[in-house]
Amino acid sequence: MAKKDKLQPLQVFQYLPGTNCKKCGFLTCFAFAFALIGREKRPEDCPDLLTEQYISALDFLNGHFGGDFSVEKTGLLIDEEKCCGCGDCVAVCDKCQGTVMFGSGIVIPRNVPPVLKIVDGRVRVVEWESCKRCMDPPEYCRVCEERCPFGALELVR
Ligand code: SF4
Ligand code: SF4
Ligand code: SF4
Repeated sequence: MAKKDKLQPLQVFQYLPGTNCKKCGFLTCFAFAFALIGREKRPEDCPDLLTEQYISALDFLNGHFGGDFSVEKTGLLIDEEKCCGCGDCVAVCDKCQGTVMFGSGIVIPRNVPPVLKIVDGRVRVVEWESCKRCMDPPEYCRVCEERCPFGALELVR
C-alpha cells in the first residue's frame, strides 16, 4: 500500500495489539487507531508496539503515521549490523538532552520525550525533535556517537 493511501480505522486497528491496556491514554486500541489517523498520536505512543513481537507492525505504522527519521532528515546514521542494543547511547542521550546549559553555567531542565529507544535489540530514533540539534539555536551535541563502543552511530552532518 502506498504511503499516501488513506487507511481506515479498522485497517489500522489490525496492526495494534488489541489488548485495550490503556497505556497510550485511550480506553481502547480502536480509539488509538483514530488518534493515529488524526495525527494526535504516533505509533511509539503504544509501548507494546516497541517490543519485538510488533516490530513489523511498527514499521508499517511508522510508514504511515511516524515521523521522518531517515538519515536525510536527522543526519544520524545507524549501522544496524554493528549495534548490539546495549543502550549506552540511549542512557547518555536521555541525560544530556534533558538539560540545557547556558553560557553563564546555569543548567535548565528540558522536558522532552527521549530521542532514542532500544527496539528489538537495536537502537532506533523515536522522537528526533527532542534532539539538541533541533533546538533553536541548535546545539551540535554528539555524545551518542562518542559513547557508542562499536561505532554504530554516526552523525554525518
Ligand atoms: S497502548 Fe497499545 S495496546 Fe494498549 S490500548 Fe493503547 S494501542 Fe492498545
Ligand atoms: S546528538 Fe545529542 S541530543 Fe541528539 S540524539 Fe545524540 S546524544 Fe541525543
Ligand atoms: S548504537 Fe552503540 S551504544 Fe547505542 S545501543 Fe547500539 S551498540 Fe549500544
